[in-house]
Amino acid sequence: MNDLHFQVDMLQAVNQQLNGKEKMYQLICSTSKNAFLYFDLQKNIIHTVGNWHGFFDFKVEAAKDLIKLIDYVDDQDKTGFQELLYLERTKEKNRTAEYKLPSNGRWLEFECTVNYENEQPVEKVIRIRDITKAKKQTEDLRYMAYYDMLTGLYNRNYFVSVLSSWIREAHDAKESVAVMCVDIDNFKKINDGLGLVAGDELIQSFGLFLKGFMDEKTIVAHVTDDTYFIAVKNPVGSHSMDEIFAAIQKRVSSPFRLMDGHEVTISVCAGVAEYPDASESSLELINCSEIVMFRAKAQGPNSIMYFEAPIFQNFIDNIHIENKLSEAVNTNRFVLYYQPQYDSASGKLRGVEALIRMQDETGKMISPGVFIPIAEKNGMIVPIGTWVLEEGIKKYAAWREKYDCNLVLSLNISAIQYKRPDFVGKLLALLEEHKVNPKDIELEITESVLIDDFDQVVKKLHTLKDYGIRISLDDFGTGYSSLSYLKGLPIDTLKIDKSFIDTVIQDESTQVITEAIVSMVKKLGYETVAEGVETKEQYEYLKQIHCDNIQGFLLGKPMPEEEIVRLLSQGTVAG
Ligand code: C2E
Ligand code: CA
Ligand code: CA
Repeated sequence: MNDLHFQVDMLQAVNQQLNGKEKMYQLICSTSKNAFLYFDLQKNIIHTVGNWHGFFDFKVEAAKDLIKLIDYVDDQDKTGFQELLYLERTKEKNRTAEYKLPSNGRWLEFECTVNYENEQPVEKVIRIRDITKAKKQTEDLRYMAYYDMLTGLYNRNYFVSVLSSWIREAHDAKESVAVMCVDIDNFKKINDGLGLVAGDELIQSFGLFLKGFMDEKTIVAHVTDDTYFIAVKNPVGSHSMDEIFAAIQKRVSSPFRLMDGHEVTISVCAGVAEYPDASESSLELINCSEIVMFRAKAQGPNSIMYFEAPIFQNFIDNIHIENKLSEAVNTNRFVLYYQPQYDSASGKLRGVEALIRMQDETGKMISPGVFIPIAEKNGMIVPIGTWVLEEGIKKYAAWREKYDCNLVLSLNISAIQYKRPDFVGKLLALLEEHKVNPKDIELEITESVLIDDFDQVVKKLHTLKDYGIRISLDDFGTGYSSLSYLKGLPIDTLKIDKSFIDTVIQDESTQVITEAIVSMVKKLGYETVAEGVETKEQYEYLKQIHCDNIQGFLLGKPMPEEEIVRLLSQGTVAG
């Protein structure tokens, strides 16, 4: 459409002096919003046509007047502009350029077209168009592309692009760039409590505060809900972001006041990764800082953590294991090992604890200490736990039938598994299916099961106990262990953690605590099992203080089914 206008206008300009159609062209010209400069290069004549005075307050009647036009553009644009004005000198036919006029901020587009005859320039038209509105729209679009609408901070894309260019510069100058991921703790809870509008307001207010850090060396971006990134070019010191983080801590120590009068106090955690130590790529740097931020969160509110290679390696390892884990779940590459537990006084086999192993594709065994925490995080513990119950109970039923042994089968139950509403039903159905007496089964739970909803958990424990299933409190002494709450718990057995047994011989205070635990637990009517017993001295000591049962490498490592079967066929007394 513009081209068409241009053609019509140019024709009009060229034929301006022609009679007959002159009026028509003049009409077209005078209604055009554009201005034109027509040059008859052979006769050396210049005309201004169209809406010239809508643009300029001077006339151009001769070549010398073009100086005034050149004066209109910014100094830095003058050379290019002159080239366009005298386009015939470069033998070009057409060129377009845009200039912002410093005098009034208007954006003008100049399009110069030269007509040649026998390679000689004969005439030239320069069309001048006001493109201020279009420019403004482009700027708005650019704003939307670069900025986060909610906070007015940079968005992720722009942050990445600035960071990338800083990294390039830092590479050349052998400098560093630090990226900090800042995240509000428990934002979801705050948001749910306040409602979306107030949640957004909080994000804006905090974002506005962070914006204060912006300068030529620092940029701030808002990426998602409650996550912000700050990048600092060539920061000083090894803990480069401490100063900014301290300022953030200072701010969040007092509440944010929202428009509806609410006062909200927040805490934030941060993770820092630096170029070139953490990574040489901007995206990886951002990812690293985010991973480290999650690590910081695990340390509690208002924590900051800096990237260290082992943290990242650990993260990579976890991903690796996660992949192996889903593979193992799909192809059932799990095995149960069984570790014997002996009665300390009689030396008789009391029972076995089923301990899961995972085999990778090469047949290598992977320890549950490595994959269970990951499976608990990603939910795979549910199918894995179900498999452990099925496999353990099935094998146990077969042993009983063959060896008529009177053993306890201990099964480790994860908190997530335990809390599922169908847990009790499924377990009972399994016992029924394999004709196993519930009193032969002991579920090992850790204190983490009790944390979230104590009353609910205890209710379930009572249900299990009503069916005759035994409950054992595992790893006692490592968590929030307090003897005072033990009283109300419907448990049968308490397992004293290996960490006590490790030092009980050398360390007198551990002895005092261990003895207190054993005697108190006995008074409460529970059985005790000492875990991780590795030496004869430990065994003798534990026997002497009347710890009921012993489990540990001294008497038997976790072993595959065949070995347990061998043990059972040989009788049940410790060696
Ligand atoms: P846990 O329940 O405390 O199991 C005892 C751990 O101590 C086992 O490690 C066992 O091999 C080890 N252990 C026993 N005696 C000794 C000893 O004398 N010296 C030393 N150094 N270690 C000893 P394992 O088999 O690697 O299991 C680690 C943890 O993985 C278990 O700790 C348990 O929390 C978890 N786990 C194992 N199997 C399962 C399962 O089927 N389900 C669930 N949810 N967790 C399981
Ligand atoms: Ca256990
Ligand atoms: Ca344990």
